[in-house]
Formats: sequence, structure tokens, C-alpha cells
Amino acid sequence: MATDRGMLIVVSAPAGCGKGTILAEILKDDNFCYSVSATTRNPRPGEVDGVNYHFMTVDEFKNLADNDGMLEYAQFCDNYYGTPRKFVEEKLSEGKDVILEIEVQGAMIVKKNFPEALLVFILPPSIEELRRRLHKRGTETEEVIEKRVSKASVEIEMAENYDYTFINGELETAIDDLKAIIRAERCTLKRQKNTIKEVLNNA
Ligand code: 5GP
Repeated sequence: MATDRGMLIVVSAPAGCGKGTILAEILKDDNFCYSVSATTRNPRPGEVDGVNYHFMTVDEFKNLADNDGMLEYAQFCDNYYGTPRKFVEEKLSEGKDVILEIEVQGAMIVKKNFPEALLVFILPPSIEELRRRLHKRGTETEEVIEKRVSKASVEIEMAENYDYTFINGELETAIDDLKAIIRAERCTLKRQKNTIKEVLNNA
């Protein structure tokens, strides 16, 4: 039986929207892989190199990008963020679904270069709620929080370029929404060509 190529799933949301918590739940399923991004920003307390991010210097980052080592990359709030290409390509060929947790500029690059990718945008209940969650998280200074909040409105306007969107209000509902989206997407005809052939061959 031919292994179908895995699905590339892009998940974007304004910082502090809770996407990390939702994705941690989704990633309990072994069929999913999380693409660990590269970044030039400093690690936050508790973040581990190679787990949360591959933390790099600007030179290291640019070197990888210049050598076609990034599937996409973007500048966000004074730092570079990018998706190392090799891991993603390998996992997709193995038939695994790969999740990219990336911001909107990177998502638009993926959309252009991988038209078959599934793009999901998670919305906060409101901008005010987003600000409250960022304060509660307590990992950023007041100045960074305000920068991220003002960026959120610009990002939310980009949601119309995605395939699906939902609000992360109540966590359980949000997890169910994302699971339902992925499940429905797997059943689209464009992803089931092999299944149809198999059924016909087993007549
Ligand atoms: P943070 O600094 O809060 O971890 O991430 C800031 C933003 O960068 C988030 O919106 C996050 O999704 C995005 N981001 C993380 N990794 C990547 C990546 O590999 N590429 C792009 N384009 N954005 C990323």
C-alpha cells in the first residue's frame, strides 16, 4: 500500500492566544510531528534549545537561510524565525502530518510554495483578552506586550487568507475544533486519491 504524503498543517495565532496549549494536546497523537523552529530571539526562562526552538545567532540563521535550509522565514518583533526544511521534508515523506506554529508572513510563504498545506488561524476572544493573557503569562516586559498586542490586530486581518479559523475561548472546545478541522481535511478528495484506488482495486 502506498504511503500518502503527510499533511503540512500551519497554525497561526497572535502571541498569547493559547495556541501552545492547544497544540500540546493535538501532539499527544503520534501521527503528528511538531516542527521546531529556528529563532534569533533569546530563550525565555524554561525554554530548552532543540525543544522549544533551535536558538541561533543572526549569522547562523542567515547562513542556513542562504543555503536553502529554511522552508520559510520571517522577521517578527526584531527577531528572525524560520522553519528548518530538512525535518519537515523527511517527515512528510514518511507520511507524518507536520505542524508548523508560525506567524502570518511565514504562513503566506508556505501557502504559495505548498498550495496543498492546511492553514488554520486561531483567534483570541478579543484584543483586550489577549492583553490580559500576556500579562498573566508574565514572560514579557510591558513594552514588548504592547508591541505584540498592536501587532495582533494586523495579524488578525490576515486570517481571511487561511482555510479555517475559530476562537480560543474555552480550551476544550478549541481543541475539539482543531481536531475536527484536521479530521475533515484528511477526508477531502484531494487527500484520498490512494484510498479510492485501493477500494476499486479490492473489488
Ligand atoms: P514567540 O517569540 O512568542 O515564541 O514567537 C513569536 C511569533 O513567531 C509567533 O507568532 C510564532 O508562531 C512565530 N514563529 C515561531 N516559529 C516560527 C517560524 O519558524 N517561522 C515563522 N515565520 N514564524 C514563527
